[in-house]
Amino acid sequence: MSEHPEQPPFRFPVATRYAGMASSPLKDIFALAARTDVVSFAGGIPDPELFALEDVRDCYDWVLSHQGRRALQYGVSEGEAELREQAALRVARHLPTSAEQIRITSGSQEALFVIAEALLEPGDVVLVESPTYLAAVQAFAVHGARVIGVDTDDGGVLPDALDRAIRTHHPKLVYLIPTFQNPTGRTMDLDRRRAVAAVLERTATVLVEDDPYGDLRFSGEPCPPIASLGAMSAQTLLLHSMSKLMSPGVRIGWIRGEGAVLGTLAVAKAAISMQSSVVDQLTVARYLASKDLDAHVARVCGVYRERRDAMATAIAPVLPAGAHVTRPEGGMFLWASLGHGIDAQAMLAHAVAAGVAYLPGWSFYAEDPDRSTMRLSYVTHAPAVIADAVGRLGEVIATHAERADGVSARV
Ligand code: PMP
Repeated sequence: MSEHPEQPPFRFPVATRYAGMASSPLKDIFALAARTDVVSFAGGIPDPELFALEDVRDCYDWVLSHQGRRALQYGVSEGEAELREQAALRVARHLPTSAEQIRITSGSQEALFVIAEALLEPGDVVLVESPTYLAAVQAFAVHGARVIGVDTDDGGVLPDALDRAIRTHHPKLVYLIPTFQNPTGRTMDLDRRRAVAAVLERTATVLVEDDPYGDLRFSGEPCPPIASLGAMSAQTLLLHSMSKLMSPGVRIGWIRGEGAVLGTLAVAKAAISMQSSVVDQLTVARYLASKDLDAHVARVCGVYRERRDAMATAIAPVLPAGAHVTRPEGGMFLWASLGHGIDAQAMLAHAVAAGVAYLPGWSFYAEDPDRSTMRLSYVTHAPAVIADAVGRLGEVIATHAERADGVSARV
């Protein structure tokens, strides 16, 4: 019993930019993914059975045995030298890069926050693909940016639309995920990348190129980052993450940049979190130096390829006529536009009741959402589980399509 029953509960005065965000879409995804009675395609959650647990244990043991006192101490905001060296070696596969050009972050999510903190003033415009990664939109929006979506097709952002949007809105930066995009799984080919780079160079616009999925390629030829085309490297911040390749739990990613902005990024990083966990940084550095990440990623890709195939095969026949679904060459997601006036958010409760969850697509749009869209992650479940759950989802979709068509026939 409260001592003052007549007193209303204390209301914390939260910042306006967070008001109405009592639950973030990402928190909701993780809640759905945790339910054992539902096959969830909602989160981009790596299959934990595929983690290289023994190798990672080995590396933590080695770090604590050989570098223990340093690993448990504060570090530097730029990141630990060994990890920056290893990160630079990976980036240099596509783009000449030295350790000095790397800033370590606690995953790409923090990288987005560090960049927003370092670059954005309230009222600045950020251009994004429509649709795009919802947590990036949130990171820019809570720093006061006006986030505007640019039209895309199956080949990514449309260069002409980007050019027009830059001339109209004079953005502070453009945020793109050119490879196996979240949420669509789409990849920009080399011609599209060149066209986009030309627009960005001509208009001297900053690019934030987010690439957490690029190494998860199952088929087709790798594409160079936009950062490596023409003179783009000087005006691009290129983001990588260990989350989808090694482990999201270690929370390690990095930003590759050039010039004076690197100093500002280190100051912003220090303001946010001093530095990323030193023990985790040293362990990831040890892992990259002493284990074979490429071989691990190749194993993971083999498994994900089968799951992508299982989902692509199962979903094609259950979609209503005129619906569209992507078939990515890598990454984690399929993106379906159901059409027929279906509201994927309203349909979700019925899908969950049928034991299957997906992520309604509306939240990935900065504006004007297509509410008939859904994102389906294929990476977490075995092919047989996927086939069975997609079958059940198909029945729910069919019911909603019939209902929606019935309504439109009556009006
Ligand atoms: N960017 C994109 C496009 C993502 O999909 C994600 C994770 N889903 C992130 C950044 C953040 O990932 P992390 O912080 O785990 O590196």
